[in-house]
Amino acid sequence: MSQITYVNGKYLPHNKAFLHVEDRSTQFSDGVYEVIAVISGNLVDPQMHYRRLIRSLTELEMNLPMSVNVLHLNIKEVIRRNQLNSGLCYLQISRGSAPRNHVIPNLIKETVVITARHSEPNGGKGAKQGVSIITTEDIRWKRPDIKSVSLLPNVLAKNQAAQRGAFEAWLVESGEEEIIIEGSSSNTWIVSQSGQVITHPEGVKMLSGVTRNRIIDLARSNGIEVLEKPFTVTQAKTASEAFMTSTSSFVVPVIDIDGHKIGNGKCGPVTIAIQKLYNDFAQRSCGEV
Ligand code: PMP
Repeated sequence: MSQITYVNGKYLPHNKAFLHVEDRSTQFSDGVYEVIAVISGNLVDPQMHYRRLIRSLTELEMNLPMSVNVLHLNIKEVIRRNQLNSGLCYLQISRGSAPRNHVIPNLIKETVVITARHSEPNGGKGAKQGVSIITTEDIRWKRPDIKSVSLLPNVLAKNQAAQRGAFEAWLVESGEEEIIIEGSSSNTWIVSQSGQVITHPEGVKMLSGVTRNRIIDLARSNGIEVLEKPFTVTQAKTASEAFMTSTSSFVVPVIDIDGHKIGNGKCGPVTIAIQKLYNDFAQRSCGEV
């Protein structure tokens, strides 16, 4: 079966789905996106993703060119036409196409693209065995809380990780303190030697992860204390456990940072407990949509 992609109201064969050459997403990264997990043909936590999408659009003075309900129906239709059971839906809204000009044109209509891709849920092998990550300087712009398609620094960081045989790059704020902000495509967590689960606080410096926020709720309502406070590279390397979270991989244990073994070099009990809480939630919640 060929892949079907939605572009501005049309469901097209993937190899015939194109943007205009002057779409502002290609010339200025002038657009935003969301990635939503699909389990058993249903979306995981869609309302949280739509809320963040509206926020990203609002921050860039863009509009969602349809209601959230219609958007949801379109995404469901892409899932149906692709017979997607398990995988990811990618949604991109760019400001639209217009003759190239930095100044934002007045009469411009947003471009909406929705694609669907099959993949293994729950992070695959890395989620079971744990992964290695590297740290690298965070060289992004000052508004990574907006989920814009401007991802070149993230791409370079992740590629640096891949070249060093690592799964992810954790981004470090420059300065003496060496604070870990988040990953190139994930949020970052440690479990301290005293058992505190710690993740960077929300704010303009990082993306407010849908998985992160759901895990904070799940952990707290299951008696696991979570602290939202900055932690350093040294604290991460000497933590008893570390892990990362994202829509595409759920909860992935980190067992090595820059070549330093974390804890005993195996997936830790707190991480495994949180992973189970989230996996169970994802299975449960996708039945409700
Ligand atoms: N931070 C960044 C930079 C990301 O790209 C992602 C993945 N979208 C995340 C965090 C995790 O966010 P979410 O749990 O919403 O996928």
